Amino acid sequence: MKLSNGLALNGHPSGRHFLQIPGPSNVPDRILRAMDYPTIDHRGPEFQKLGRAVLAGIKDIFQTRSPVVIYPASGTGAWEAALVNTLSPGDAVLMCETGHFAGLWKRMAERLGLAVDFLQGDWRHGADPVAIGERLAADRQHRYKAVCVVHNETATGVTSRVAQIRQAIDRTAHPALLMVDTISSLASIDYRHDEWRVDVSVSGSQKGLMLPPGLSFNALSDKALAAARSARLPRSYWDWEDMIAANANGFFPSTPATNLLYGLYEAIAMLQEEGLPNVFARHQRLAAATREAVRGWGLEILCANSEEYSPVLTAVLMPQGHGADALRKVALQNFNLSLGQGLGKVADKVFRIGHLGDFNELMLMGTLCGVEMALAVSRVPHRPGGAQAAMAHLAATATAR
Ligand code: PLP
Repeated sequence: MKLSNGLALNGHPSGRHFLQIPGPSNVPDRILRAMDYPTIDHRGPEFQKLGRAVLAGIKDIFQTRSPVVIYPASGTGAWEAALVNTLSPGDAVLMCETGHFAGLWKRMAERLGLAVDFLQGDWRHGADPVAIGERLAADRQHRYKAVCVVHNETATGVTSRVAQIRQAIDRTAHPALLMVDTISSLASIDYRHDEWRVDVSVSGSQKGLMLPPGLSFNALSDKALAAARSARLPRSYWDWEDMIAANANGFFPSTPATNLLYGLYEAIAMLQEEGLPNVFARHQRLAAATREAVRGWGLEILCANSEEYSPVLTAVLMPQGHGADALRKVALQNFNLSLGQGLGKVADKVFRIGHLGDFNELMLMGTLCGVEMALAVSRVPHRPGGAQAAMAHLAATATAR
């Protein structure tokens, strides 16, 4: 089919597309409707009410009372904002190799002129609290100005234990800032900015918040704000000071993404209606059912530590000699199902099942049935019945209402 604008399409596949990549996640109709309004004057009184409401509401999602800065940018922008607001050229930072996204953040830090020590990892485990503690204990000169951790490594389906990392840092009494990437964990996995005394939490709109891509966040601490006063990396657009000054009245220093902010207002309302503890429990349960399916198929979960299984996605290793991308292609072409591709050093070796955001049991079952059928069509060696095992888990753990 060729559209009048010249775009060639294969025709409309009937039914809903299953967008089961680990973000962007499915945007619920309620949020789409909430954004479907005229854009208003971002310096006017109506906007001010919206600005005040979202700037206050987003704090609850980070479990913080400190300021949260909102940028019209993807998560990568908020990574940069965290670094340039707090650090100076040549500062040493400790980062942890959990997977592809940790590697990208490290590359950014190096490009910005920071001296990165990268704690090696095998992409099957989270950031190691013991190893972080040892590095900090050995750093008597307090060379490290920051420790940076990706909470949920979206490339591997491994969730690092931030509370334990905080404790490990505390035991050394090291003054380094703690920065955490919560881009694929916020509003899906329990995350406590204040209780864990994180200095900068970085996040994005397109995962647990159920919004389209385009907003990103920095949740701050007093210590981060103090560091910003003496930090010397060049910054302009990302400067927290300009943001915080304008935010005090509900406004932004440059044109905000007004319609995404309408969506954010609705997303916060939806999360509050369900209740954050219920949101986290729902993600845990759907993730556990997914792992039952993977085990039922006789396939291997990439995450090697059961304490670090991600509630947001499950990365599945392909049997030797079978490519994950061919399987994903079959799932898309035959069943209108998008699965996440393997990234970086696990490219074509794993596929990722996203189970986050606006998601429930039957959506999960549709997804897992799609995977199981794609395994059969692609003749990937597996045991049939994984989807059945997930269904049994969901039935056994359902609360009778
Ligand atoms: N960090 C993590 C954990 C991510 O999952 C992603 C994107 O998926 C990013 C950083 C980069 O964010 P973005 O692609 O929104 O710039």
